[in-house]
Amino acid sequence: MSGIKLRCSKDAYFDLTGPIIEVIVGDEKHVTFGVHENVICAASQFFKKAMSGDWSESKSRSVRLANEEPEVFHLYMQWLYRDTLPVRNDSPGLEGNAEYLQLAKAYVLGDLLQDGNFKDAVLDAMIERTTSKLSDGKMWFPVGPVIRHIYDNTMKSSEARRLLVDMYTQTGRSDWLRNWACPEDLPKEFLYDLAIAVLDKRSQPEIPAGSPDPCAYHQHKAHKSICYRSRLAQKPH
Ligand SMILES: [Zn+2]
Repeated sequence: MSGIKLRCSKDAYFDLTGPIIEVIVGDEKHVTFGVHENVICAASQFFKKAMSGDWSESKSRSVRLANEEPEVFHLYMQWLYRDTLPVRNDSPGLEGNAEYLQLAKAYVLGDLLQDGNFKDAVLDAMIERTTSKLSDGKMWFPVGPVIRHIYDNTMKSSEARRLLVDMYTQTGRSDWLRNWACPEDLPKEFLYDLAIAVLDKRSQPEIPAGSPDPCAYHQHKAHKSICYRSRLAQKPH
């Protein structure tokens, strides 16, 4: 796999003027990132709030994200500056599942940072991975720990939860649960959502195959004009 590369246009050009702020990510083994305040505040409501008003972060020009992982924040930085999500592991099985887990953590980070475009792009990367054949010539879907991480860290209304339930309802096989997840990985809420979706599917007519809506899991809902994909062509290359 050459890597998943998604492009979006937050603006025609980055505003690279103004100060650099410091983002300290992680606890004991923390890593310090420098990021243009204008760039990150244009993308993240969390940073916009932190850098305005009387917050102490605003005065020190420094934000601490002690509970986040530097590797996952690095993914976010790649997205901010390069419009890419570098997903390169094409191993099957649990090794490849680690990359789904990384994307799940990135989604949860996007929730914290309140960056809807990033969350949409992360789910697109997950979907793209499910449709790519890995090194064993098969397509692999997220299992066990990915489900646990999403369900432990997102709200009931999360699009990431809906995506996982839809993947299992439409494509899943029982061995995904039997062989690739232990009971502790499977939150009751997920099993409840899955049971409802499977029972609902039984009473619905078969949906004819066709191109799925690329915005089906995006946070912008009906407002497709603000989708990061719709502005793709506006950015100079
Ligand atoms: Zn969209």
